[in-house]
Amino acid sequence: MAEYHVIDLYFQGIPQAIAVFAIPHEGGVILVESGPGSTLPALVCGLERLGYRLEDVTDVLLTHIHLDHAGAAGALARRGARIHVHPRGAPHMVNPERLLASAGRLYKEDMDRLWGYFLPVPEEQVNIPQDGQPLELHGHVFVPYDTPGHASHHFAYLWNDVLFTGDIAGVRLPGSRHVRLPTPPPEFHLEQWRASIQKLLQVPARQWVLTHFGPVDDPQWHGQRILEILDRLDAWMQTHMPQMPDAETLTQQLLAWTWDLGQEDGLTQEEHERYEKVNPTWMSALGVQRYWRKFRAQA
Ligand SMILES: [Zn+2]
Repeated sequence: MAEYHVIDLYFQGIPQAIAVFAIPHEGGVILVESGPGSTLPALVCGLERLGYRLEDVTDVLLTHIHLDHAGAAGALARRGARIHVHPRGAPHMVNPERLLASAGRLYKEDMDRLWGYFLPVPEEQVNIPQDGQPLELHGHVFVPYDTPGHASHHFAYLWNDVLFTGDIAGVRLPGSRHVRLPTPPPEFHLEQWRASIQKLLQVPARQWVLTHFGPVDDPQWHGQRILEILDRLDAWMQTHMPQMPDAETLTQQLLAWTWDLGQEDGLTQEEHERYEKVNPTWMSALGVQRYWRKFRAQA
């Protein structure tokens, strides 16, 4: 049975925050995700431990183009890798100006420290898979599933009976039953997210593998839990959003709600803070605000 390896990028020195997954083959190694530019040295170490160099990476499958998942793809392309990316994300990997400007507005002076360099991917090294069309790479087959909701440019990839879920399956730290949904701007969309999870629950996978962080062996429970959280978030928004709170107020309110959800799962203060580092509520609040204004607020 083929196996995959989890490479921990120790993002900002935090273990189990961002993962890259490595799948060896006869001519090198395939990666799912590249991680950000800032953790390229950690990726090099992780690959070395498996017996590979950056030059051995033949293919990178990106679940979506957020910087924590795709930032180092250009650097890998420079060393020869082919980059597989959703049709809506592909143009931004080739011409990243708008992607970087939009991230810059969010992260401001923290941009470089958090994410490092982002090199564009040469167009001839980009491959654009299509929803449900199997992709055969060096004897491995991946089936991409279009899964908007967290981002409009999002794929989950089925490989054997393992589903690499990117961010559509949320954040769940190892050993925990607590699930959090990152709802960042500009594309968080509640109804699309629900439909994507319903779609993935039909996919024959024994395991879901989260970029934040690692394998989940109870995918049916996990998927149902996400649907439940989406319903509760919907109800929460209907209570809080009609007052149109400013971003700071909204962040505080959403943080209180998130804390309560954590309490239901028995989360300690320390665990709560780890989740916040991986998936900050201020970011989710901005996504909720944008979604509400665009799709739900009465004109
Ligand atoms: Zn993301």
